[in-house]
Amino acid sequence: MTDLTTALRHTLDGRWAAVRDQIRGEFDPERFAPPSQELTMEEYRERVAKQVQLIAESGHPARGFPKSLGGNGDLGGSVTAFEMLGHADLSVMVKAGVHWGLFGGAVANLGTQRHHAAYLPSIIDGTLPGCFAMTETGHGSDVQSLGTTATYDPATDELVVHTQTPAARKDYIGNAARDGRMAAVFAQLVSRGESHGVHCVLVPIRDEAGSALPGVTIGDCGAKAGLGGVDNGRLTFDHVRVPRTNLLNRYGDLDETGVYTSPIENPTRRFFTMLGTLVRGRVSVAGAAGAATRTALTLAVTYAGHRRQFAPPGGAEEVLLLDYRAHQRKLLPALARTYALQLAQNQLVSLMHDVQSADAVDEHAQRELEARAAGIKAVSTSHATATIQTCREACGGAGYLAVNRLPMLKADTDVFTTFEGDNTVLLQLVAKGLLTDYRDEFGSLDTLGMVRFGARQFAGAVIERTAARGLIQRLIDAAPGRDSESGPRDRGWQLELFEDREKHLLETLAMRLRKAADPESDAFTVFNDAQDHVLSTARAHVDRVVLEAFVSAVDECTDAGAKAVLDQVCDLYALSTIETEKGWYLEHGRITPARSKQVTAAVNDLCAALRPRAQELVDAFGIPESWLGTELLEEPARAFAQG
Ligand SMILES: Cc1cc2nc3c(=O)[nH]c(=O)nc-3n(C[C@H](O)[C@H](O)[C@H](O)COP(=O)(O)OP(=O)(O)OC[C@H]3O[C@@H](n4cnc5c(N)ncnc54)[C@H](O)[C@@H]3O)c2cc1C
Repeated sequence: MTDLTTALRHTLDGRWAAVRDQIRGEFDPERFAPPSQELTMEEYRERVAKQVQLIAESGHPARGFPKSLGGNGDLGGSVTAFEMLGHADLSVMVKAGVHWGLFGGAVANLGTQRHHAAYLPSIIDGTLPGCFAMTETGHGSDVQSLGTTATYDPATDELVVHTQTPAARKDYIGNAARDGRMAAVFAQLVSRGESHGVHCVLVPIRDEAGSALPGVTIGDCGAKAGLGGVDNGRLTFDHVRVPRTNLLNRYGDLDETGVYTSPIENPTRRFFTMLGTLVRGRVSVAGAAGAATRTALTLAVTYAGHRRQFAPPGGAEEVLLLDYRAHQRKLLPALARTYALQLAQNQLVSLMHDVQSADAVDEHAQRELEARAAGIKAVSTSHATATIQTCREACGGAGYLAVNRLPMLKADTDVFTTFEGDNTVLLQLVAKGLLTDYRDEFGSLDTLGMVRFGARQFAGAVIERTAARGLIQRLIDAAPGRDSESGPRDRGWQLELFEDREKHLLETLAMRLRKAADPESDAFTVFNDAQDHVLSTARAHVDRVVLEAFVSAVDECTDAGAKAVLDQVCDLYALSTIETEKGWYLEHGRITPARSKQVTAAVNDLCAALRPRAQELVDAFGIPESWLGTELLEEPARAFAQG
């Protein structure tokens, strides 16, 4: 490991570097690597279930639960450990995430003392495998419209959980098809003939012997595109009775006469507060997507550094793939964005840790955390899907062989764009958050309510700075004007361009949506017609947040050599993003055609400048070599052996 690699890793590893090192040293790749040969579905599920048990025995899962609930209270460390698992078999990461993160998270965050005492010890030690049963066949993104009901029966002091229609069947539920014994079931809570909206109820689904309990029908989703070791299943409830006290009652409770009470009066606010406490799953998926992307880039960059193809005319030696500009263009801007996203992820994990560990609830910080998690999750998982595909192509035929991991990384991460919130829907949430300036007077969060509110309030919408407010403003103030002579690598100019795009998109979006307040117009149509604009606004926001995270990480780096390289990588992230969006910048007169060409030239120059550093840049990810055991990395040895 070079000094540069060590210093870069220090910046990338961030606040929970010690946890990363612990996992690097502790997790034996023999036991946690993806299977080296094709397994039947049952063999693979069995293998992953055993690996999850090994994780339980390692004691790591306790990190994710507050000390008061029997854990270690290191939430950031827990999410970071899960992120590191993303370098190994993603089926293990997902199954562990479903049990401890989603099921355990629901009990910890939506339940109260009685649930914590009864269930958390056996959730933490893995002896009560659980499911998080939210999605139904009929409704995935629109959780408020779930059809399962939990109806209070005062005669027996029980809740009756029932699947009202075939569309209300719980679907895709991780851990349901084979191993789960209990499910955190999201259902419409009904009492005294009145519905109180979606709440979560604990429902045992299997007995100790693994058989479905009376009234519970368990189905199997069968083979999937990836994540073959995860047993996704379907749950149907036929008037299944559980004690009233199985209602996770932190945000809404029933007494024995069926009277409903809640500390949050507004039902929509209550619903979103409940969902908001579950943000950790989204943060974890973003982290795992980052880990998988880094694995793919490490493979592709290393391969490109020793794989040769075509000799130049008269040249004795064939050219290394990484010396081709086209190849640099494929991998290095993606590498720069991967750095940027890891630094933004580190900030997000830190924010999550501080908000969720605080004694008092800070609603503004909680809203900010939810919006940030939604945006980073959407952008990181889309980036993973695109980059892993690029890496597969960059390795040619070798990239297609299962032994080289890229096909499996591609298949396993594909669904990250869908679960824990579909990316399109999440980006809409981000834009809504921006329009309302995180105000909780938001009222009804349904589309029409949002549109009306957004139209009234947009004048107050501001660009909130995320990190190092003073630093960013100083850099922007120092930028010597549009298309300045200082060139496209002026950081202040880049920051201003990102900020200007976000601000313009947000203001013009709000102006468009203002029409919805007109009694003559159909608010839904106004909003629907602007959906592309909504998504662009959210993306521009995330791009800016990510750039600011990168800029502040460069500023904090104390190693001069690493700082200089990070500065170039940050330039490459900023300029390749501007290049991607240059149509918008040109259309809106933000850059001249001449500056646009300079940006393209600067991206090429940066690719050339970073090419000699490419191996160190991926080595800095700190993925232990034994975790990357592929034929692809052994190419020079093979070529040599073959003469
Ligand atoms: C492998 C796997 C594991 C899963 N594990 C779990 C689990 O353990 N527990 C659980 O509860 N769920 C789980 N899910 C379900 C997952 O969370 C949902 O699939 C996801 O929320 C999307 O819901 P949906 O499939 O109904 O898609 P839909 O919501 O129907 O979306 C389909 C398409 O419509 C688009 N769309 C939807 N609404 C809008 C809109 N308003 N505007 C524009 N476009 C829109 C989306 O962008 C998407 O492209 C899992 C799913 C999979 C595939």
